Amino acid sequence: MAKKKKEKRSFPKQGISKEALLAQMKTMRKDDAQWHIGRTFSLVYHPGNEIANMVKEAYNLFFSENALNPTAFPSLKQMEVEVVSMVADLFHGQEDTSGTMTSGGTESILLAVKTARDWAAEHRPHITAPEIIVPLSAHPAFQKAFHYFGIKGVVVPVSDDYRVDMKEVWRNINRNTIMLVGSAPSYPHGVIDPIEELAEFALKNDLLLHVDACVGGFLLPFAQKLGYAIPKWDFAVEGVTSISADVHKYGYAAKGASVIIYRDKLIRRKQFFVYTDWPGGIYASPGIGGTRPGGAIAAAWAALMGIGENGYLQLTKKTLTTTDKLKTAIAVMPELHLIAPPDMSILAIGSNSLDIYKVGDEMSVKGWFLDRQQYPACLHLTVSPIHAEVADQFIADLQEAVETAKQLSWNKVSSNIQVGAVKGLKRILPEKTFKKLQSFAGNAGGGIGSKRTAAMYGMMGVLAGSGDLEELVLNVMDQLYSE
Ligand SMILES: *Cc1c(COP(=O)(O)O)cnc(C)c1O
Repeated sequence: MAKKKKEKRSFPKQGISKEALLAQMKTMRKDDAQWHIGRTFSLVYHPGNEIANMVKEAYNLFFSENALNPTAFPSLKQMEVEVVSMVADLFHGQEDTSGTMTSGGTESILLAVKTARDWAAEHRPHITAPEIIVPLSAHPAFQKAFHYFGIKGVVVPVSDDYRVDMKEVWRNINRNTIMLVGSAPSYPHGVIDPIEELAEFALKNDLLLHVDACVGGFLLPFAQKLGYAIPKWDFAVEGVTSISADVHKYGYAAKGASVIIYRDKLIRRKQFFVYTDWPGGIYASPGIGGTRPGGAIAAAWAALMGIGENGYLQLTKKTLTTTDKLKTAIAVMPELHLIAPPDMSILAIGSNSLDIYKVGDEMSVKGWFLDRQQYPACLHLTVSPIHAEVADQFIADLQEAVETAKQLSWNKVSSNIQVGAVKGLKRILPEKTFKKLQSFAGNAGGGIGSKRTAAMYGMMGVLAGSGDLEELVLNVMDQLYSE
């Protein structure tokens, strides 16, 4: 348990050989999540080696290029414009629908919020304290954007079906509201908010409407073509004014690729930044970054062009067939249930009779990497094509994990596991915080970094909503980024 504190690395006097370097890096990754054999259900969307290798080659071809200045590398500019127009077409955009590529979903969302703020400043100038209404289930990138750009975020609850509660949206629209937000689908539960109803509200009140399709953008259109019942969510819905979609998720591009698309060019214009007084020249930039990696743009273009509709249909079919298999298996396990019937390939698994985090712990011990969620407690799976190969093993392990978790509950084994976990937590937390945490939650605990964390999540639940939890997480981050 007691990990020796690592020496701080000082700046290397001399470079080391490529062989030594690569060997060292391969050793470093030995504890990393095993995404390539389908052990992770988030973070990596693996389409199989053939496509992944094609995308890698495309990335490498443009490894050095910089999309900061579009006139220097017309190839990159063309690829970016074409990625955006291919996606606009996929999302039923009109003639004037346009956008830009960004570094990821977070940047796309930051830009959508900034654009809305600047759009409102011009078109509804009486508003001095702009508000944006977001469902509780919307991605935290919106909160980040509100924090960065001085917008009041109004969070509204979701209904029993985990879609945004439309009565609450209606109740919260006021003269300061500038934009509504819906997810297609939400990350936590995989359900699509009622976009058509949101659009009606937006049109009635002269508001913008952003649809966050970061995770769904490159799956839903193909699911619909395969015959799955998918409610309308894109520009086909009058009133949707912007959409974010991550090419680095179900688009299978390299990390660092998303798109933000607007219904028309006039809105997009509000996204751009121009500074004309700099001695270095006139500076114009579409997004948040300056230098932009050519490789990410090239890889995104290559993914869309190389996979094409027929390829995405196949990949989507594989993903959704696997999702259905997992759903069917979970449906016959009396201890488990899905939090909501998902609209695509995201599963949130909860339990009424077991501590679901303990099930998660047992799955971790078996080598599966699953996210833990709260309100309600559940485990989170984003299914991708690679999981077709491991679904049977996953189901067998899940059944065992449930059995083990049941026994743990019966024996009230707060003993060994939890004592070990408490020690783990103590190792990474400052004394003061740890004491506080301990006094909140008695003797239970779990270490971040240990495979068993159920007790820790239990304690966090006790602290949630208090400033203490934020302080605690900040401390953990300090520690994480120092080790
Ligand atoms: C992943 C995701 C984001 C954020 O994207 P990043 O690429 O991680 O910045 C936003 N919204 C949803 C629904 C997502 O799934």
